Amino acid sequence: MRYQDFHDRSLNDPDGFWTEQARLIDWEHPFDEVCDVSRPPFARWFVGGRTNLCHNAVDRHAAQRPDAPALIWVSTEVGQERTYSFAELLREVSAMAVILQQQGVKAGDRVLLYMPMIPEAAFAMLACARLGAIHSVVFGGFASHALANRIDDAQPLLIVSADAGSRGGKVVPYKPLLDEAIRLAAHKPARMVMVDRGLSAFERVPDRDLDYAPMRAAALDVPLDCVWMPSDAPSYTLYTSGTTGKPKGVQRDTGGYAVALAASMKHIFDGRPGETFFSTSDIGWVVGHSYIVYGPLIAGMATLMYEGLPTCPDAGIWWRLVEQYRVTGMFSAPTAVRVLKKQDPGFLTRYDLSSLRALFLAGEPLDEPTARWISEGIGKPIVDNYWQTETGWPILTLARGVAPAEPRLGSPGVPMYGYRVQLLDEQSGEVLTGANQKGLLVIEGPLPPGCLQTVWRDDDRFVRTYWSGTPGRQVYSTFDWAVRDEDGYYFILGRSDDVINVAGHRLGTREIEECIAGHPAVAEVAVVGVADALKGQVALAFAVLRDPARAATPALALALEGEILKKVDSELGAVARPSRVRLVTALPKTRSGKLLRRALQAVAEGREVGDLSTIDDPSALERIREELSAAR
Ligand code: AMP
Repeated sequence: MRYQDFHDRSLNDPDGFWTEQARLIDWEHPFDEVCDVSRPPFARWFVGGRTNLCHNAVDRHAAQRPDAPALIWVSTEVGQERTYSFAELLREVSAMAVILQQQGVKAGDRVLLYMPMIPEAAFAMLACARLGAIHSVVFGGFASHALANRIDDAQPLLIVSADAGSRGGKVVPYKPLLDEAIRLAAHKPARMVMVDRGLSAFERVPDRDLDYAPMRAAALDVPLDCVWMPSDAPSYTLYTSGTTGKPKGVQRDTGGYAVALAASMKHIFDGRPGETFFSTSDIGWVVGHSYIVYGPLIAGMATLMYEGLPTCPDAGIWWRLVEQYRVTGMFSAPTAVRVLKKQDPGFLTRYDLSSLRALFLAGEPLDEPTARWISEGIGKPIVDNYWQTETGWPILTLARGVAPAEPRLGSPGVPMYGYRVQLLDEQSGEVLTGANQKGLLVIEGPLPPGCLQTVWRDDDRFVRTYWSGTPGRQVYSTFDWAVRDEDGYYFILGRSDDVINVAGHRLGTREIEECIAGHPAVAEVAVVGVADALKGQVALAFAVLRDPARAATPALALALEGEILKKVDSELGAVARPSRVRLVTALPKTRSGKLLRRALQAVAEGREVGDLSTIDDPSALERIREELSAAR
């Protein structure tokens, strides 16, 4: 079959197309309607159907192939490896679900997970799914303020966490951050289930903090069936940054997500039951949700969950794992490959990679040299895929499970089935039909199954943020610029908003600005993303001080910069830390007082600023240029 025909059918006969895809999962009760679009832009998929994500990921495979590997956990941080069969995974997930249920968790309740990459993180996600509870995983790299914001928004009944994570052999205690977050949050979760890895001693709050190990021992083999959920019941929320300081809770459904993942594992990732999938992401990000936990398991594959760096004990670790576990599909990010590129290329050929069919990369632009280096190094196709937390699965890529396709360097590929992708002219909002015209990448509704249903508890924000940017038309904006070539391949050109992408992680500059502005010495601050050879972009802060005397000498300035960076570390987490805080005398603004971030970015990257007609005081930029070169 030609991929084009497959895509056409998904748009011209969505009911027939998605009914077929829906057969990839089990339904306890069939759906009566494929998609309810009576209240655009909201879409309800597989209305009337009842299913369960945990049943599809675990139970159904445990019944058929109990001894097949399901979860392979490897930690080079603590030097442990362990494989759980589907039967063992089911036993662990059920025990975790019993524990949650004993604490009063039921369908619709929120459970916040703040976990390192340990098997219990996957057990907890799947246990929530088993009960119909809504999980909200917060990336372990976020610190207390960021965590408190998310606790207040999700209002979890319970938190599942662990004593510590570990990074590059350094123990990162979680409990003090959690305790501080709960102190800061207005919402106080009733209970906390703590997995004690024995990495970092922690204090327990009586009646609130519970130990996982003894509860697990008591809960093992207590029967607990999956709770069948309506297809459109929320399965999880995952926070992502936007242009405001308040992160958005991306809310996903149950049935649509299960079908979308099952279909993507087959058509895009070309995965088959019994094979092994290795995604190097973290469960705190969307890739971790879709392609460490749910996707591979739904497809009946073993999923390899890795705690550790790509360079420890050496830069051959990933490839050793591919050889050892006969990995067939691997998913990573360009930054990680750029990290490997700095190491001995001999590692790429040291291991038997014959099982591997493709390496999928996503999360940030994939530059051609990196793509070429890794493709030639491991001798496998590199498949770029473009998507967002909001969509849950790829928007643009190549569906290698449908038809063979030639990757085109620099392009993630073509629109995936179910996505009606368009490019819009920025000024007029008109659809661009010609080749090589730059436009805003939008998707015409309804979004396919698996995409966000809404913003958690904020339908208005969902409509306002994503669907209201084009006058006279309601289309979903990705906030990315793109062009399409003569053959229909898309090329992503960067964000149209103030969101930056550091090492494949999306960060909102506003959240970082709000944190820095809270420092008593800072009068004003702007954070921009600037190009970085390793991480794609890094955050750079420009701060104007209340009292310039605080930076009167280089030593004073450096000390203040250190203080500000420490504040970001302890409140938002190291993941949000700017590379530098530049102390400047004024920030460039429009006459109406709006910050000109793009001008700052251009100056920081040593580029020409372009149109200066809106700037209030062009000399401010000149001064910043001089201040930057003096500081160098
Ligand atoms: P996140 O929601 O954190 O996954 O970030 C999504 C954003 O990352 C997108 O809107 C793009 O700006 C960027 N992005 C993701 N994948 C790619 C890709 N393959 N190529 C270029 N940019 C990408």
